[in-house]
Amino acid sequence: GATLGVLGGGQLGRMFVQTAQAMGYFTAVLDKDETSPAGLVSHHHIRTGYEDPQGLAELARLCDAVTTEFENVPAGALNQLATSLPVSPAGSAVAIAQDRAAEKAHFVKCGVPCAPYAVIETAAQLAAVNDALLPGILKTARMGYDGKGQIRVKTRAELVAAWDELKQVACVLEKMLPLAHECSVIVARSRSGDIVNLPVQRNLHRDGILAVTEVFAGNVPPVQAEQAIAAAKSVAIGLDYVGVLCVEFFVLENGQLVVNEIAPRPHNSGHYSQNALDVSQFELQVRCMANLPLVQPRQHSATIMLNLLGDLWFSGGVAKTPAWDEILQLPGAHLHLYGKVDAKPGRKMGHLNITAATPEKARETALKATAILGIEAF
Ligand code: ATP
Ligand code: MG
Ligand code: MG
Repeated sequence: GATLGVLGGGQLGRMFVQTAQAMGYFTAVLDKDETSPAGLVSHHHIRTGYEDPQGLAELARLCDAVTTEFENVPAGALNQLATSLPVSPAGSAVAIAQDRAAEKAHFVKCGVPCAPYAVIETAAQLAAVNDALLPGILKTARMGYDGKGQIRVKTRAELVAAWDELKQVACVLEKMLPLAHECSVIVARSRSGDIVNLPVQRNLHRDGILAVTEVFAGNVPPVQAEQAIAAAKSVAIGLDYVGVLCVEFFVLENGQLVVNEIAPRPHNSGHYSQNALDVSQFELQVRCMANLPLVQPRQHSATIMLNLLGDLWFSGGVAKTPAWDEILQLPGAHLHLYGKVDAKPGRKMGHLNITAATPEKARETALKATAILGIEAF
């Protein structure tokens, strides 16, 4: 049988591996962590870093196709693999997603509106910033996630101090926009250019980390939902993208849709697809790699996903196990734990998908779950 490989051993890799195995494939994971969530469940686990040419050569020898679950994998690693086997997404697309300046330039090229911004790589560029971008958010161009590497600034003095605090690395300053809410769209595109999308996800972040995703008809006004799907597809087509891509958006108070950023992989906001759609984002990832037909996913349940962060494993600083037995009593509750060995505050440990016949029922069950676990209600 064929073997599918993934760079990165986190929870996204684990769910990819589990899905690929259920579909009849062997799997290989490259991650230097002995206890990586994906490595623990994969047929093969190559325990080296992404920069190790021998590890990459071993992955290429084992596999028939390779993907990534981690957007900061060096594009050079993907390019090395691509000399001997199909790699999706391509290094060129991942390189754009890794760099906010390149990413924003791509949005402009595709004609998809993004927040007004300026690239800041030098003191001269910092001094030349237009006052119209303040108040704004200074974001490192590379390596940020879960709101890390971002500082909100109101004045030029704060901007200068923030750039120093970020060690004067390459940054993007974005104008702070008045958000009504946030949403995202996941698309999958095949080698032959067929493209399908998941329904629009409405997302709530807390402390820069995704907390809740709600998906049902009317979660986002239909006009913005259609615009978001069309915009996500044009971003993917503009990259000649192959694989699963998530595009994050803001809906502004005036109703305008603005693109925020992309992730070149399955995304936390798409985890509901495991239980509320007939085809999950991980199955689409496998289908893209194995060159199987892409099917437009069909939603069969209203759904709410709650992220389960490491904070739930502590009470007043003392370690505890969350009350899974009570959660599993709830109708339509689907628990997904990632098998991570140590819980830390803010660390993504699992998620809970709630499915129901109606949005009201899903919300009722989700609020019971937040009460049991001690998560803030929404
Ligand atoms: P992720 O973990 O999704 O990759 P990230 O660290 O890359 O997150 P962003 O998505 O850039 O961070 O921003 C995190 C959050 O900060 C957004 O989801 C949004 O709530 C808020 N935010 C970011 N940029 C803006 C903006 N220009 N105006 C208003 N709010 C913003
Ligand atoms: Mg990001
Ligand atoms: Mg984001």
